[in-house]
Amino acid sequence: MAEEVTKIICITCPMGCSLEVTHDGDTVTKVDGASCKKGAEYALAELTDPRRMVTSTVKVAGGLHPLIPVYTAAPIPKPRIFDLLASLRQVELQAPVKVGQVVLASVVGTDVDVLASRDLPAV
Ligand code: SF4
Repeated sequence: MAEEVTKIICITCPMGCSLEVTHDGDTVTKVDGASCKKGAEYALAELTDPRRMVTSTVKVAGGLHPLIPVYTAAPIPKPRIFDLLASLRQVELQAPVKVGQVVLASVVGTDVDVLASRDLPAV
């Protein structure tokens, strides 16, 4: 396989460095444009196992609001995001909900939980 250059944006911090990643398949040989060493780590992860934090909402019965914001406790594999969102659409919590409460455990074959972002009292 021949070396190629792929341009990606590092999303590890708000700097958003534009990276030029030289690689042969998933073997990274050079990363240009990173302002810190995390850029190279991000580039390697992005080419071999891209992951993202996911935020969404789920339904709540008997609460002050009908939906509550939720988030993954850690990034999950990017190809599994739509599966996770489909699973979250099936969830309906019962109020009250506590911030940090596990909404869905070990999602889409990972050890990552989805957690509630806020308290939601019952009414
Ligand atoms: S390379 Fe470093 S400074 Fe640049 S966006 Fe990534 S983490 Fe931030």
